[in-house]
This record gives sequence, structure tokens and C-alpha cells, in this order.
Amino acid sequence: MQVPCATCTYPNPYSMLTITRKLEFDAGHRIPDHNSQCRNLHGHRYTLLITLTGDVVQQDGQSDNGMIMDFGDIKALANEHLVNMWDHAFIVYKNDTAVRAFLDSMPNHKTVVIDRVPTVENMAQVVFDILKGVYNDRFGRHLALTKVTLYETPNCWAEIDG
Ligand SMILES: [Zn+2]
Repeated sequence: MQVPCATCTYPNPYSMLTITRKLEFDAGHRIPDHNSQCRNLHGHRYTLLITLTGDVVQQDGQSDNGMIMDFGDIKALANEHLVNMWDHAFIVYKNDTAVRAFLDSMPNHKTVVIDRVPTVENMAQVVFDILKGVYNDRFGRHLALTKVTLYETPNCWAEIDG
């Protein structure tokens, strides 16, 4: 969103107001080609930060008056389109045939197959691609997903800007 410049009537292209909603989920993965511990089946508690920009609603009497988007709505949409599928799932690379065969042998196992190795970089990219279609221009308020940050551990994360 462009905020008007304080000293003139033109929008200030250097100001941008964003909001961020944090969500967490647990998931398993492995990095099949990695030459250390990461090749083993293991899991993380992932922390996902969803950053949006958009017009601030200025309409008295409306529940989201003064907001870019209700934080509860951001969470509900992320859960519906991503987190409910990924939480307590095993995220597996489509070409990791050994692990896919193992997961397929277990009835009703929660498995998410992605088209790339599930490093935090690749997962952040997949998350961004899923969520941008969910938020962008929702409600016609120039709403846009500007950033996804995904923490694999408190010390390691990836960020992708829209
Ligand atoms: Zn890992």
C-alpha cells in the first residue's frame, strides 16, 4: 500500500504498510541427497510468517475497520489451504521413491508430495506459490502476499518476497 507523503500530495513510494500472521505446524521430511544427518527421516516444528499488504479498511461499523485483513481470516485461509494438509504430515520429494513406497505402505498416512527436495528454501517457495493465489486481491482491496518466511529451526529460515 502506498502511504501519502507527509509534505506533498503524492504517494510516497518508499512507505509500505504490512501485517504479518505467525502460524506453526509440525512436519516430517528428509533431504535424500544430503551427506549428513538431514538424509534421515526426522521432523521440525515449522514457524510460518505470512506478510500481507493492502488497503486499510476505513468503514465505520465494519468488523475489520482499520485493518488490512482480520488476523483471524489470515489464519483461517492459511489453515484451509495449507496448514491443515501439512501439519503432522510427512513432506516428501516426488523422486524420493524409497520413502514414498514406505509411506504408501501405511494405510491413511498423511503425506504431502512436492516437486522438489523439501529443504526450507524449497518449502518456502511452495508455500508462497500456494498462498499467493489465496490472498492476492481478495475482497478487491489490493491485498497481496508480499513475503513468506519459513523457520525450520529457531536459527534457520528462508524468506521469499513477492
Ligand atoms: Zn530437517
